[in-house]
Amino acid sequence: MSTIIERFNKIKLNIASTKSFQRVNIIAVSKTFSLDHIRPLIDHGHRHFGENKVQEATSKWSEIKDTNESVKLHMIGKLQSNKAKDAVKVFDYIHSLDNKKLADTLAKHQISLKKNIKYFIQVNIGNEIHKSGIPVNELDPFYNYCKTELNLNILGLMVIPPNDNNPKKYFKSLNELNKSLALQDLSMGMSADYMEAVNNGATFVRIGSSIFGERL
Ligand SMILES: *Cc1c(COP(=O)(O)O)cnc(C)c1O
Repeated sequence: MSTIIERFNKIKLNIASTKSFQRVNIIAVSKTFSLDHIRPLIDHGHRHFGENKVQEATSKWSEIKDTNESVKLHMIGKLQSNKAKDAVKVFDYIHSLDNKKLADTLAKHQISLKKNIKYFIQVNIGNEIHKSGIPVNELDPFYNYCKTELNLNILGLMVIPPNDNNPKKYFKSLNELNKSLALQDLSMGMSADYMEAVNNGATFVRIGSSIFGERL
């Protein structure tokens, strides 16, 4: 069995060993890795994959998705409005919804392309300058706008916590914000901190290097 599958199975076991009750989906983050690395995991039956660039995702995944409808692709990186149309074409989930202009553009394109994208709103939980995500104090009106005005299918919130070695407190507050909006899903946790994220309610973890190895 290839090391990629072994690593993936180990992560599944780790997640199953937690005391959490929610169902957890692993998004295998395949950015920078070629299809040679990814195919074994698809053949193994895994279905959720993540990429952070529209162009890379389109060239790598269009053909696979045309022949395999059960493969679901997640956009986890920053998305510019001018790439929204191509993103709607190739992705099933977008985790980086964080501003009104982007929301308006995505809403328009998903109607004309007849797609029903599932969204996460990315939150700038540490209110960090130059970081993606909607500021916490703008979250409520932004969520209501996306849901009521644009009719977007918002599953939950997404976070990349500040890099201060204490992800737990941010995971906890994201979980509380998610509950305050009565949302069901929570996108948080990466290779270094996914166990902490699962213990605090994550339903989608985004794991790259612990599955595919170090990125070059
Ligand atoms: C790359 C990336 C990940 C995966 O990171 P690893 O540390 O390799 O698991 C998760 N989330 C986002 C937003 C990323 O860009």
